[in-house]
Amino acid sequence: MVRPAGLPSTFKDLLFDLLEVSPVEGLMQDYELSLQHVLWRIEHLHQKKEVVTKLDHGVHRMTNAEMVPRINRLAGALKRLGIKPGDRVATLAFNNHRHLELYYAVPCMGAVLHTLNLRLFPQHLEFIINDAEDKVLFVDQALIPLLKPLIGKIPSVKQLVLMTDTPAASHSEDGLGDMLDYETLLAAESDGYPWPKLSERMAAAMCYTSGTTGNPKGVVYSHRSQFLHTMGVLQGDSLGITEKDTVLPIVPMFHANSWGLPYACGMAGSKVLLPDRFMGDAKSVVELAEQEGATILAGVPTIWINTVAYLKETGKRLPKVHTVICGGSAVPRALMEGMDAVGLRILHAWGMTETSPLGSVARPRSDTRPGDELKARLTQGVVNSGVEIRISDPATGEELPWDGVAFGEIQVRGPWIARGYHNGYDPGKLTEDGWFRTGDVAKITPEGYIEIVDRTKDVIKSGGEWISSVELENAVMSHPKIMEAAVIGLAHPKWDERPVAYAVPKPEFKGKVTQEEVIEFLKDKVAKWWLPDEVRFIDEVPKTSVGKFDKKVLRASAEPIHAGVKEEAKN
Ligand code: AMP
Repeated sequence: MVRPAGLPSTFKDLLFDLLEVSPVEGLMQDYELSLQHVLWRIEHLHQKKEVVTKLDHGVHRMTNAEMVPRINRLAGALKRLGIKPGDRVATLAFNNHRHLELYYAVPCMGAVLHTLNLRLFPQHLEFIINDAEDKVLFVDQALIPLLKPLIGKIPSVKQLVLMTDTPAASHSEDGLGDMLDYETLLAAESDGYPWPKLSERMAAAMCYTSGTTGNPKGVVYSHRSQFLHTMGVLQGDSLGITEKDTVLPIVPMFHANSWGLPYACGMAGSKVLLPDRFMGDAKSVVELAEQEGATILAGVPTIWINTVAYLKETGKRLPKVHTVICGGSAVPRALMEGMDAVGLRILHAWGMTETSPLGSVARPRSDTRPGDELKARLTQGVVNSGVEIRISDPATGEELPWDGVAFGEIQVRGPWIARGYHNGYDPGKLTEDGWFRTGDVAKITPEGYIEIVDRTKDVIKSGGEWISSVELENAVMSHPKIMEAAVIGLAHPKWDERPVAYAVPKPEFKGKVTQEEVIEFLKDKVAKWWLPDEVRFIDEVPKTSVGKFDKKVLRASAEPIHAGVKEEAKN
């Protein structure tokens, strides 16, 4: 037995002797927890496992044995482009094999993978790229139009790299300057890269999360957090992914690292199916799952609403799928039952970008009475091992009992929970004793099931993605005929929630402004899927005692969303 190495043998030894205690250090290796370990596993254990990406016609198929040299080449190319440890490398890409290669090459060479949300409005993309100071940006050919509004506005980006199967000689006509071609870059490098020794505390990846007010905030994952999250996700009572599985993540690779599934699959050795731009297309997703033998699917509720409809309509079934991981929004009962009816079992999970994202999973515990199974599956589940949870009274900060009645803000702590944001935004997210305030309000039952009842914020969640009600209100209120506007999210059978604007016309325009006019006005101000489903004209927005819009009152009296809004508007 040895004394802890960090302790001087003088005063502390004396103190321990006096107290008759003798703390000793374990004799295990100081092995740095890093994503290089996941890369090591796919290279040494899972060479034959495939990564299959859906293409316009057919699929792109590659084994890990083929992918690993490409990952090495990619790291070589990044180094040649001047990328150093700590530099941010951005991706604007669908779920596809090149994106997966970046998932490994960037963090394993010591740089930071910054996945950009391709559904964001240009101002947000511009803010995020500048805030992260991305050096190189990898973009899928189909997503180039998203970059055009950013020309001249993202000075940190020194190089754009185009990801395509059919490289064009020049892209200067796009106005985006000289773009390098991904495949040409890889072709110039060698199959081996001298991976550097990494510290587990180094940043590995970052993802931005958008809240109610202000700009999106950067969540920065470390190698250690990613490693431990991956191990956490793989546990039997968590997502329970194994080497025998074939996993189809329909959750975007820009959304909280696709819920950590790419690394979980790498660690476990599962076959990976990637839907590329066919993410929202139930037919393509079902065909890919069927043809490639998917056993686990993952995505937000909206995806499954489409899938159930498609399966019912066609009579097709996916008998090999044993689990459909579903989170990002609460799973409606009708969806859970609808999925059960077509043989797809939803595993409900809760988390957020700041929790890497997995926080809890709803697997009914062994003591669940047979009739209570569905009820347990509809909760947000039990906190994952590795994470601690408590609920706290938002007014007093007092910790509340787990009695299934009291509800308060969920606070969590653990090795894959954020302790702050990039550039120090929003320092108040951590309590004084170091727990992360999630902004979700929940009850916890005595058995530990979490039941989310509300959010502390007013953000609207549509199809698994946030819409800032405040931003939308500001846009509506910039209409010359509108005086005041408040936006709330109302339940929608397909998108979970959709925004509805309540607008007060200026007195001179009362009765002289139409819904169509307002929506048309918003079209160049917010993303298409942010456009309110309805604009309802009222005489006054209800206010709280301090003069803020009282959305609770609006919500309480709101009529449900009317039918007849074109669905494609939100895609
Ligand atoms: P994001 O960071 O975009 O993934 O959003 C995280 C937020 O989505 C959480 O704070 C919750 O408000 C919500 N959320 C995620 N999963 C669930 C779930 N299973 N049930 C209810 N809300 C959820």
